Amino acid sequence: MPQLNLILLGPPGAGKGTQAERLVDDFDLPYYATGDILRAAVQEGSELGKKAKEYMDRGDLVPDEVIIDVVIDRVDSNEAEDGFLLDGFPRNLEQAHALDRELDRLGRDLTAVLLVEVSDDEVIRRLSGRRVCTKNGHLYHVEFDPPKNEGVCDQDGSKLIQRDDDHPDTVKHRLDVYREQTSPLADFYEERGILRRFDGARSTSEVHDHIRATLATLRLESEL
Ligand SMILES: [Zn+2]
Repeated sequence: MPQLNLILLGPPGAGKGTQAERLVDDFDLPYYATGDILRAAVQEGSELGKKAKEYMDRGDLVPDEVIIDVVIDRVDSNEAEDGFLLDGFPRNLEQAHALDRELDRLGRDLTAVLLVEVSDDEVIRRLSGRRVCTKNGHLYHVEFDPPKNEGVCDQDGSKLIQRDDDHPDTVKHRLDVYREQTSPLADFYEERGILRRFDGARSTSEVHDHIRATLATLRLESEL
């Protein structure tokens, strides 16, 4: 079986986590979301984890070189020998170049970069409509999945609130950061001919079907 070495790109609210879950099932790949593997490295107490923890404890961003080492550590492991799905990495061109160098060293190539595209308006609509219950964290959406009684959780009667992260101003800021860092990445991978675009305005199932079909084709092509 040819490897599937994949990167998942897309703005907050694009549903990357859900797509990742399904792709992991379809293709039996390990999923490396940067935040998760950083936390895992810290918990394991590895040398890298200790280094990352120093920054996290101070509330500083973990520097590129440490993140790169943590990611490569996973990519260069037995569980990822048939491929991997990266999410949240690379986040900028420096990280993308570093990933290239390291994959080169391992004699591996990126198979595809999957970009789930969603307009800013749609992201704001999706995220700023989210509500979470204060007691058990049950999730609602004022438009797509409203509670029976406004502002009250159906399951436990507790109050529904909007998380700070989902506030329209915060969402806009997150989008600005994303556009600034990620547009150059999309161009970079487009020039290499490995960027695949997906219309994130479609339903989760449609996006998933499209990505799965694309990957199945890529796999077939690389077997020829
Ligand atoms: Zn609840």
